[in-house]
Amino acid sequence: MVRIAVDLNRCQGYAQCAFLAPEIFTMHGDEALLYDPEPDEALREKLDRAAAACPVQAVLVDAVEPDGVEPHAVDVPAEGVSHAR
Ligand code: SF4
Repeated sequence: MVRIAVDLNRCQGYAQCAFLAPEIFTMHGDEALLYDPEPDEALREKLDRAAAACPVQAVLVDAVEPDGVEPHAVDVPAEGVSHAR
């Protein structure tokens, strides 16, 4: 699993990321960018491309939680969830 963060103060809604990695980034309306903060490792290549394509480098890959909060119970879209136990 990869940890990502998007600096929404930088993001200008160019949607390059949503174009290159639609599994992770989705545009809602003209400005709102939604993204999966913990995409599957299998999507890393796409993610790297999307991050590299962002004109303002707003996509941070392998971002660390600023306050060290343990990752837990993240709401991920159903289609992205693995139910392996
Ligand atoms: S490519 Fe960068 S600026 Fe464009 S929507 Fe994605 S994060 Fe925002």
